[in-house]
Amino acid sequence: MSVQSPKVTFDILPYGADEPWKLSYLWQHIESIIREAARDYGYSEIRTPIYERTELFCRGVGDASDIVMKEMFTFLDRGERSISLRPEGTASVMRAFLEHKLSQERSVHKFFYIGPMFRYERPQSGRYRQFHQFGVEAIGSGQPAQDAETIDLLWEICRRLGLQGLKLHINSVGDAASRQAYREALQDFLRPHYENLSQDSKTRFEKNPLRILDSKDAGDKKILEGAPSILTSLSPEAKDHFDEVRRLLDRIGIPYEINDRIVRGLDYYTKTVFEITADVLGAQNALGGGGRFDGLIASLEGPDLPAVGFAGGIERVLQAMLAQNAALPPQPAPLLYLLPLGEEARRACFVLATEARRKGVFVEVDLHAKKVQAGLQTASKLNARYCAIIGSEEIAKGLAQLKTLATRQQAEVPLNRLIDFCLEEKV
Ligand code: AMP
Repeated sequence: MSVQSPKVTFDILPYGADEPWKLSYLWQHIESIIREAARDYGYSEIRTPIYERTELFCRGVGDASDIVMKEMFTFLDRGERSISLRPEGTASVMRAFLEHKLSQERSVHKFFYIGPMFRYERPQSGRYRQFHQFGVEAIGSGQPAQDAETIDLLWEICRRLGLQGLKLHINSVGDAASRQAYREALQDFLRPHYENLSQDSKTRFEKNPLRILDSKDAGDKKILEGAPSILTSLSPEAKDHFDEVRRLLDRIGIPYEINDRIVRGLDYYTKTVFEITADVLGAQNALGGGGRFDGLIASLEGPDLPAVGFAGGIERVLQAMLAQNAALPPQPAPLLYLLPLGEEARRACFVLATEARRKGVFVEVDLHAKKVQAGLQTASKLNARYCAIIGSEEIAKGLAQLKTLATRQQAEVPLNRLIDFCLEEKV
């Protein structure tokens, strides 16, 4: 067929993938570890539509952010409403939280999500137009321990996945008062260099100068080398908050580096921001990141509730695991491959397989078996542990020839004991 997948997207396949990180059973493995860890930390799953009214992202992510300005997939639906595929998860979670008035249910809310996100990225390694994030949002607590908990959860997910040599970078972007003070200090510093800034940074100079710290432009980076640190502008309250987050991370043994250049790409962050990076990933080395966003819910006309969260990229996590040779689960394989020869045997094997599957045993039947050798090859290719060869003679005697594929050992096993025999691993 001449139709191919859209540019900068990829398929996740059960086998035959051109790169191992595109194998679906590895995705299932990661997702189940994320789900278990989220449960242990008290986060419950939330699922929202993959598209929303465009206005939500303009208000929730920020009109001036790269994501909204340059990267959204936006279209008019048949009712002439502007719709966007979600570029991130937080805005949708907050919308659902407000729409369903969940604030009336309890005082602290902890959600996690896993799902596809969409950004119109230019083609480059490590960035896709449909990618997958796992993320959490904790709403209702302004305690520094809540920041430390979310950081720890991202760290713990990486630990459970077997990732090593990761770096946690933390910073504080302060509260409104700290940011106002820093905004002015940064503008004063940048003003003499204004003409040499990139076009994007010039646009941000008035709108949101903090975001200039995020610039990837080499010239901007050089200019920024001498920029003042945001940490010197923190209000006493923001400083106390940051100090406590650090003390708590020390207490639970999580190493970190303070990196005062991290402001994160989105406009809504306050106080703590953080990122976890893996060197094996090259230029796009962030596995995930997040921070506190105390003003966001109120700015969406909700109650004035503090919140903190993170989002991580499943593609990156999987690529890092493969690059580090982290332990991966084996591809699911049948315990038993049934190889019937003849019509009667096929019928018997079909019934046998059904009974076994109803007990939760992975059994495959070769419905097109003609030759033993070819059937054994298929069984080996599927990585089956055992292969039972059953012809009319075996049916008559009520037996199967059971081969252990790794050792090629063979034994005669009564048909009515076949499944139990395999389960007990007697061969
Ligand atoms: P962000 O929402 O931009 O902070 O992204 C959080 C995480 O999602 C990043 O650290 C990446 O792991 C992942 N991510 C973001 N954008 C992409 C993308 N276009 N392709 C793949 N992963 C991405």
